[in-house]
Amino acid sequence: MITQTSISYYGLNYVEHAEADFKEMKAHGVTQVILAVTEFDFDFWRPNIPAIVAKAHELGLRVLIDPWGNGKYFGGEQVSKFLQDNVENRQVSALTGEKLPYACFNTNSYRDYFKNFCTTLAREAKPDGFFWDEPHYAFPKGIASITGGVADDWTCYCPVCRKRFEDYYGYPMPKYMTNDVKQFRWREALVVLSETSKALKEIDPKLEITCCVHATQNGYYVSEYRGYDNWDMVGACPYFDVFSTTIINWALPEDFYLDITRRTVAIAKKYGKKSERWLMGYYKQPKDWSQVAKWVDLAVAEGVDRLAAWTYRGGYGTVVGAPDALKLWDTIGENYRRVLGNK
Ligand SMILES: [Zn+2]
Repeated sequence: MITQTSISYYGLNYVEHAEADFKEMKAHGVTQVILAVTEFDFDFWRPNIPAIVAKAHELGLRVLIDPWGNGKYFGGEQVSKFLQDNVENRQVSALTGEKLPYACFNTNSYRDYFKNFCTTLAREAKPDGFFWDEPHYAFPKGIASITGGVADDWTCYCPVCRKRFEDYYGYPMPKYMTNDVKQFRWREALVVLSETSKALKEIDPKLEITCCVHATQNGYYVSEYRGYDNWDMVGACPYFDVFSTTIINWALPEDFYLDITRRTVAIAKKYGKKSERWLMGYYKQPKDWSQVAKWVDLAVAEGVDRLAAWTYRGGYGTVVGAPDALKLWDTIGENYRRVLGNK
């Protein structure tokens, strides 16, 4: 049974404008708003963030803070102040040695920055929880084939990662992605999120943590080594409450959506978490609008606990807006109301 229906929201400037938008979300069957707080918002609009969270609460919406695109380590289009202010502590290509525009989340510099970002917001804004939004290493993406594929380069080969690898395994970090490298990347990738989640729960044990990973096959032939593709390791983290998987384009086969949904629910159940599935509420829309209801019903039938969509008003007015953004938003809203039983 669906207990929460979420929508993400970028509009973190004026409380009275956010209030009008929150009322529109309520009318669209939204129960939970995922506030995409950028590094610029944190640096510049900080005084208004607590007021916006308080307004959402006043209107009966739960609030999760999403450190959207933070360090470009999380998913999202925003720019990163951390990268602007730090020429080091970046992810490094294993094959070319180039520094990349992604923070290395295994460095103490970024780990401290990120923890401070979240704990400060927890104390000041008092949200209901946090949302870890597609955390990832820069490479490889989900490009692979049964014959090997193109994703040979990988990160992170920065001095901090190399030293930590050698300290642990007793030999220099290879430039080829061996099993030790895979294990190292999985383990280290969870440290920053575990430590921050733990710190948040020490501030307030009721703060709820959702970890949302890329929706990938992770099968025998095709996998996506971006650090969080080992769903068992993610699901087993004791500080996460909700296991969530990201958006799948409406144009992908229903079988793929179903497979991701089933495996999401299975991992969540195995580790005693709630499960969440995302719907594409921006950029692309289904050819046939009835697909939205169909995929919502499939999620319900598979036992998903929560539905979420990116983003408010279908991305209307942005470069990632769906062609009929407002119709997509309305269609998702109709389905949210339907599954919650308040048609
Ligand atoms: Zn590194």
